[in-house]
Amino acid sequence: MNEAKPPATGWIEVICGSMYSGKTEELIRRLRRAQIARQRVEIFKPAIDERYARDQIVSHSLQSIPSRTIADAQEILRYADEAQVFGIDEGQFLGPSLPQVCEELANRGKRVIVAGLDQDFRGRPFDPIPELLAVAEYITKTLAICVVCGAPANRTYRKAQDIDERVVVGGAELYEARCRLCYATHAPTPTDAPEPRARVAGR
Ligand code: ADP
Ligand code: ZN
Repeated sequence: MNEAKPPATGWIEVICGSMYSGKTEELIRRLRRAQIARQRVEIFKPAIDERYARDQIVSHSLQSIPSRTIADAQEILRYADEAQVFGIDEGQFLGPSLPQVCEELANRGKRVIVAGLDQDFRGRPFDPIPELLAVAEYITKTLAICVVCGAPANRTYRKAQDIDERVVVGGAELYEARCRLCYATHAPTPTDAPEPRARVAGR
């Protein structure tokens, strides 16, 4: 007897952590595996990040995968019928509607994978990622390596302490990964600390 299985439901996966913690690498890994499984995949990133590469997501280790650039999470819904798997990088820059958009896709049976910063440079929850964590089925918290002491790092330290705005897009020249202690003590970065690889030269 050919018993019909109920249709698979969708779900939300979130990959969150500090800068350099491997969020983008992990997102690319999951999306590549979905493509190997011949699933249709749509990949998005915020326009705010587009000066580094307009049409692809690029990790600090220079892995990349083609993507669409959007200004707001709402735009993803236009592609809702185009794919089974949706990948979203830098989710913290896609506006307050991100959790509701992900919910809608998941409710429509889609697998939604979002990478994003969970804390801002002050160590405060970076909305709307915390709201997304509350409704996600699967959460992966990634840790970087503290550039000062080598311990696991969950904070993004802004080197220019005089810049107060929450969103200032930058790379190795502005941000470094630090553990809780080296973040709090503002310990100087050792001069022999390895320079994190920039996404593109000059970043
Ligand atoms: P994220 O998306 O979380 O910013 P990426 O996936 O773009 O991270 O980059 C992770 C890669 O960054 C690592 O595999 C490593 O090659 C590189 N890297 C540079 N600096 C660090 C650091 N301080 N800690 C860990 N990885 C680092
Ligand atoms: Zn440290």
